[in-house]
Amino acid sequence: MIEMQDVWKEYNNGVTALQGVSVRIAQGEFVYVVGPSGAGKSTFIKLMYREERPTKGHIFVGGFNIERLRDRQIPFMRRHVGVIFQDFKLLQKLTVEENVAFAMEVIEASKRLTRKRVKEMLELVGLVDKAKMFPNELSGGEQQRVAVARALVNKPSVIVADEPTGNLDPDNSWQILKLFERVNDRGTTIVMATHNRELVNATRKRVIAIEQGQIARDEERGDYGYED
Ligand code: ADP
Repeated sequence: MIEMQDVWKEYNNGVTALQGVSVRIAQGEFVYVVGPSGAGKSTFIKLMYREERPTKGHIFVGGFNIERLRDRQIPFMRRHVGVIFQDFKLLQKLTVEENVAFAMEVIEASKRLTRKRVKEMLELVGLVDKAKMFPNELSGGEQQRVAVARALVNKPSVIVADEPTGNLDPDNSWQILKLFERVNDRGTTIVMATHNRELVNATRKRVIAIEQGQIARDEERGDYGYED
């Protein structure tokens, strides 16, 4: 499902964020990516949805050869890879339902299918009654649930999330994690970079630790393993 082969990433300022990372993640896995700040976690995640390109190495995600992908193929790839950020990144001028629908409009889905899926997704995340509200009228936890609905609306095979609970209190963090687990139970692969020790240690999934741009640890049912 996801494969990186000897991936290196050097940014324009000369910082080498990843140094020879190789990893395989099978369809349906749930993987936490942990490690100190600046270790390369975000870079690892960004390479998976082609926000960044590797300096060297190969990356395959859901059958796409990411580093060879042409710009016009990116929207098609993004149907298969849903992305969730720490700061939600909702469009402030659009309502909740419009934010979710937007991800389908980008790929030119029919209006009828879009309406049906938006409703399904808002039911899944428990926000049907807030469909007409704007992001700034919602709590942080609700905004992140909208972002989850948006990431799922095209039924991607992979969800990548960069610190999705970083701005949330423990209750809301658990809600997001429970949503991810439900989605994962249906077969969607989840890759989640996180500093949330409590979630990682309580749920015991595969843990990949990145330190100084390299995979320092890769354990089934791993733990968080850091003091920060
Ligand atoms: P983490 O997510 O583990 O905190 P990052 O992947 O964000 O780590 O960063 C890894 C290293 O790459 C850091 O030294 C960071 O400063 C650097 N870095 C990240 N993004 C950029 C960028 N766009 N330009 C230059 N350097 C960057």
